[in-house]
Amino acid sequence: GSELSLVEKGKLKTCTHLPYEPFQVRKNNKIVGFDVDLVDLVAEDLKVKQEIVDTPFEGIQTGEDLNTRKCDIAAAGMTITPVREKNLDFSDSYFEATQALLAKKGAPYRSLADLKGKRLGVQQGTTGEVYGRKHAPGATKVQFEDLALLLTNLKTGQLDAVVHDNGVLLDYAKKNPELAVAAEFRTGEQYGFGVQTGNDALREEVNKVLKKAKADGRYDRIYRKWFSA
Ligand code: GLN
Repeated sequence: GSELSLVEKGKLKTCTHLPYEPFQVRKNNKIVGFDVDLVDLVAEDLKVKQEIVDTPFEGIQTGEDLNTRKCDIAAAGMTITPVREKNLDFSDSYFEATQALLAKKGAPYRSLADLKGKRLGVQQGTTGEVYGRKHAPGATKVQFEDLALLLTNLKTGQLDAVVHDNGVLLDYAKKNPELAVAAEFRTGEQYGFGVQTGNDALREEVNKVLKKAKADGRYDRIYRKWFSA
């Protein structure tokens, strides 16, 4: 195969968008999370250090950050979609997710149709935004660039519900017991790490490391660390 080259010598530069707990989040001035641990395995295998660049999700999911060589890899809880595959290449799947609805505990919402006339929060540029647009035509959609703002606005009652990936919503509900995941929609999403289109050397390296980590228990250990009940 082709020679693996990185944007900066000795570094694997990762573009992500904070916060996206438990995939990537700043804790005690360190960026940690499920994605961070997995990309660290790749960096370790390459004998380089991972350097995380916090940047808007839009530039990540459009492939722009990879194409302008801002980063070598994108790790942002990003769902593999046919549209995105036109602008960047994805690794094998490393996580399964589905769209979900977060609301105040006891709220009477079971489907997006129940949100008719209500304020539904979505994060711009995400699969949740696309899903909300398609399945909640009667709701007033309110867009946020940031997951933190989206969730805070739900908590303070500016929104009636939020549609987004189940992984982060379940994590937030665990930490905010006045909220609950009211429904999950089985959208069957797979998260992949992004590389610049045609960077087969890095994509194959990531896939090799993922495969090995899944086989030798390191993937399971990292999974339990971030998603244990
Ligand atoms: N998985 C969703 C997507 O790819 C959300 C990702 C995110 O907000 N970081 O659109």
